[in-house]
Amino acid sequence: MSTDTLTIPTQRVAKSRISEVDFDNLQFGKSFTDHMFVVDFKDGSWQNPQIVPYGEMSLSPATSALHYGQAIFEGMKAYKDANGDVLLFRPLANHKRLNSSAERLSMAELPEDLFMQGLEQLLRLDSDWVPAKKGSALYLRPFMFATDDYIGVRPSFTYKFVIIACPVGAFYDRPVKVAVEPNYVRSAEGGAGYAKAAGNYAAALLPTRKMQEKGFDQLIWTDAKEHKYIEESGTMNVMFVIDDVLVTPSLSTSILHGVTRDSVLQVAKDLGYKVEERRVSVDEIVEAHKAGTLQEAFGTGTAAIISQIALIQRNGQDYELPAVEGRKISNSVAAELDKIRTGQAPDPHNWVYRIKL
Ligand SMILES: *Cc1c(COP(=O)(O)O)cnc(C)c1O
Repeated sequence: MSTDTLTIPTQRVAKSRISEVDFDNLQFGKSFTDHMFVVDFKDGSWQNPQIVPYGEMSLSPATSALHYGQAIFEGMKAYKDANGDVLLFRPLANHKRLNSSAERLSMAELPEDLFMQGLEQLLRLDSDWVPAKKGSALYLRPFMFATDDYIGVRPSFTYKFVIIACPVGAFYDRPVKVAVEPNYVRSAEGGAGYAKAAGNYAAALLPTRKMQEKGFDQLIWTDAKEHKYIEESGTMNVMFVIDDVLVTPSLSTSILHGVTRDSVLQVAKDLGYKVEERRVSVDEIVEAHKAGTLQEAFGTGTAAIISQIALIQRNGQDYELPAVEGRKISNSVAAELDKIRTGQAPDPHNWVYRIKL
């Protein structure tokens, strides 16, 4: 199947639900577009791609994903530019990561053209759902799960890949309070922390809820061996500015390889800032705070792009960050990235994938 010739059989809805959606008060992940893309893996190949009305799927109670967790996902956003074209940001990077997650969980890998054609044709059909308002976007959720109706422990022979989409407004706009997690870990080196696996999220829910009950928005994950080095902030990669240098934990098997992380680092370099990817200890952050050189702290991820951190707590001690307005690096990178992804600035790295309607 080549990208040019694959036309996905489409079953359209009789009547769009779009008029039921209040685009001025969008809640993340609640309202879905009219259609979804579905394709099945069986007998060793991907078969029967289709676009169908968004709706329920019926599953066997023995569906292996429900028992042993072969389930992975992606998250990406589509924007509308001034011409009404739909712009995707780095979809090939998401495709690559989907397959790296699939490999880690011993699942079937998905060909690039199937991923891209599913996305494109779904977006063309549901293009009215891509909000044009600043800060809003259409959030795309590609995901794959094991479908064998078999509860023996082995990799499934069959899988389903689906793309659903929901319009979203601007995210966590207020700076967050985070605390360093002293006991729980999200992932360990050698584990599946770099994969976007459903199970990683399930295991993070309890520690996150406990931290939220103590009044924090998110927690800072540290390494599994010593709880000494910073890994991520909640479900985002994390970055700091210390003495005018943008510093972030280097990638490993325990850290999710964020597309936003990579994009922020690249844009920061393009803007002439100094960037370091290396181990970052909690002590270093505390020391920098004491010395007055900790200028910025923020999370990066597709949902919020940049989520500013107002306060970091460790061992009951609060470390407050400077006001968000004065954060030179994250503010300038966020502004530049926003211009690139919405087609208002040159795109030197060919990140924007334009879909003509
Ligand atoms: C998805 C995710 C991120 C951010 O990745 P992006 O590609 O930037 O959206 C960071 N950490 C975790 C644990 C994630 O699941």
